[in-house]
Amino acid sequence: MIKKNKVNFFQVAQGVWGMKLMFVNVYMIANRRGVKKGWVLVDTGPQGSAGKIIAMAEALFGLGTRPSAIILTHGHSDHSGSLEALLKHWKVPVYAHEYELPYLTGKSSYPPVDPTVGGGIMSLFSVLFRTKPLKLGNKVKAIEEGRIAELPEWRIIYTPGHSPGHISLFFPLNTTLIAGDAFVTTKAESAIYILSSLKKLSGPPRYITPDWKAAKASVIKLAGLHPRIAATGHGPLMRGRELQVALDELAENFDELAVPTSGRYIKQPAVADETGVLYVPPFKANRKFIAAMIITSIAAGFIIARQIRKAVA
Ligand SMILES: [Zn+2]
Ligand SMILES: [Zn+2]
Repeated sequence: MIKKNKVNFFQVAQGVWGMKLMFVNVYMIANRRGVKKGWVLVDTGPQGSAGKIIAMAEALFGLGTRPSAIILTHGHSDHSGSLEALLKHWKVPVYAHEYELPYLTGKSSYPPVDPTVGGGIMSLFSVLFRTKPLKLGNKVKAIEEGRIAELPEWRIIYTPGHSPGHISLFFPLNTTLIAGDAFVTTKAESAIYILSSLKKLSGPPRYITPDWKAAKASVIKLAGLHPRIAATGHGPLMRGRELQVALDELAENFDELAVPTSGRYIKQPAVADETGVLYVPPFKANRKFIAAMIITSIAAGFIIARQIRKAVA
């Protein structure tokens, strides 16, 4: 039984709404045309978000509503965590890019995270992220770059790099972009930034991006669309001139602004295809990373010890 919760959501553009679930955003897009008008859910947030997503849908589209499809920008656990729970409630098709299917159908784990990239404590905590696949079988179908029947006015844009089959969604009529994690509008590596929704247009989350060359090409491709509204997987909405200036700057200076100075995937990317991961470069921990890990472990140990002392006092 899914508990429906009170929800706070926000409008992105006409017919598009978003909701922040912990530190991840999900979006709902209403169809303006098509045989069945309907609506589509983009991403499903972390585990435990199904009740909030259903409550948001019912507030927008009426009691007992369900989407005509769920589209995943990619299958990382913070975007697909509530998918299985939602599919128990809504029997609807799920779409993801062909190169993302191995991680949704039990065929392959994602390339390992890289906690050595720096930028904040979230990079160190990334070792806790689930990279093991979901097992959705034939409930998930492949989409290609281009159009999708459930959302005929939007374009699916292939934007790999952050994950092998990452896609973004673009509405040419008012240049609204749902960018997933191809780029984000906060510093995903910083706990302060993501928990407080502080705004800063940035490259994809560093600790879980295994192909920087592809990620750069994807940002250049998205900047070339000149979006006037960007709704990303992490961080607040960004619009207008603020967005255009920051996105152009990111595309032009991607190596300096987005790519970490050191890390597992800097010199060589992980290699993947429609069957899953084929190659990952070897892991080498640098001195800075080991020092940061030791300090974090001591701090975590200190906090836990204080809690235990409080509990037994
Ligand atoms: Zn991601
Ligand atoms: Zn994400």
